[in-house]
Amino acid sequence: MEYISTRGNSPALNFADVTLAGLAPDGGLFVPEHWPRFSSDEIAAMRGLPYAQLAAKIMAPFVAGSLSEAETLELCEAAYGSFSHKGVTPLVQLDQQQWILELFHGPTLAFKDVALQLVGHLFEKFLSGSEKSLTIVGATSGDTGSAAIDAVAGRENVEIFMLHPHGRISDVQRRQMTTILAPNVRNIAIEGSFDDAQAMIKRMFSDSEINGPLQLSAVNSINWARLMAQIVYYFYAALQLGGPEKKIAFSVPTGNFGDVFAGYVAAQMGLPIERLVVATNVNDILFRALSKGDYSVGNVYPTASPSMDIQVSSNFERLLFDLEGRDGSTTGARMKWFEQMGKMVLSSDLRRNASIFTAARVDEDEMARTMNMTHQNYDMIIDPHTAIGLHAAQQQDLPSDIAMVTLATAHPAKFRDIVEQATGQRPALPSRIGNLFEREERYDVLPGDYESVSQFILNNARNGRK
Ligand SMILES: *Cc1c(COP(=O)(O)O)cnc(C)c1O
Repeated sequence: MEYISTRGNSPALNFADVTLAGLAPDGGLFVPEHWPRFSSDEIAAMRGLPYAQLAAKIMAPFVAGSLSEAETLELCEAAYGSFSHKGVTPLVQLDQQQWILELFHGPTLAFKDVALQLVGHLFEKFLSGSEKSLTIVGATSGDTGSAAIDAVAGRENVEIFMLHPHGRISDVQRRQMTTILAPNVRNIAIEGSFDDAQAMIKRMFSDSEINGPLQLSAVNSINWARLMAQIVYYFYAALQLGGPEKKIAFSVPTGNFGDVFAGYVAAQMGLPIERLVVATNVNDILFRALSKGDYSVGNVYPTASPSMDIQVSSNFERLLFDLEGRDGSTTGARMKWFEQMGKMVLSSDLRRNASIFTAARVDEDEMARTMNMTHQNYDMIIDPHTAIGLHAAQQQDLPSDIAMVTLATAHPAKFRDIVEQATGQRPALPSRIGNLFEREERYDVLPGDYESVSQFILNNARNGRK
């Protein structure tokens, strides 16, 4: 499979190169040059496969030319072997129509593990035996940092520098990163906000003083390999609920539009999906875009679902590219306009091709009430992100024979205080991270200026300088 840029101005690359590159050189995002498609019979034949085997089948067309099916299977078995549930992403039934797909059984308790555990293995595979080594730099406001660090700790030819805003993330979140003492992991707490950290990372990619001696790489959700890994659980859930003969709907707590876009890809590949609910919190740019055509940046309001406190959803560009008939120059022009003006209008014509999506905006009260009701009615504790998805799912008016699956994106123990306020129950930390508060921490605190941080990374990088 070859990959092209959504802005139409980068050479096509294979899967291995796209995984290592992250962003396309013209500023666009990589997408497969066409969507592979499975027939109904091919999908039906996947029923009953264990998760890793299903994953290798779904990924086969995307990795063709870079990995054999046996290699893909081996990597998937290694990645998903680190999950604490043998179903990897188990389905739980709430009532006749509503289901929950638990995506939080990975090592760091959020759904980001499903993609990043695989990406860690892919990096190692594609770098092994070559002269290349990578320095991953990233900024995190919580979940991405711990999942990325866990995925690459101790791996060959790759190291990671992760920035977080000093004193502005929870103790659990910080310790999940700083207690990983592998020599290829460096945590940096900067005196500043998450946005400051994010801006520094962006600047490093265009700074030849650092992205010259070091080959920088990113692991945020613009990386195609992350999206690819997320397609699998849509098939996994649908196959257990009567697919491909029966249609199915999903509700997805959404921030950067990566997870729900993977559902869209599953539909392009032939999985009969009736509806994809894009559930946002009060940071509702996607709700406005999909329901009214108003894609304009507003203020970011901090909420109890911080992983969705986003105003610009990077992966939305991938959908736009499809809506524009996969025309890179039109998409590129639109995105340039958006980057300058902070807004764009999506005509109803354009939105007609996105009719698989329905958007819902859920406020903090509705979120808390949903956590409470789920505890009362189903004796189940869910996290705030999941509650936003479930609330949106319960608002949908679907025929009763169509199963509605809400993606549970984080373990409730990751957000213990807010869960306790809403339900009266304090979820215990699962044993797999149970001694988090006894382990030694290691991180450096740096001033929030670009020079200090980039110099620190240059001075401390272990990887081969080109
Ligand atoms: C990252 C994240 C999301 C949002 O997913 P996107 O792919 O960015 O839309 C939702 N919930 C949790 C817990 C997350 O960590």
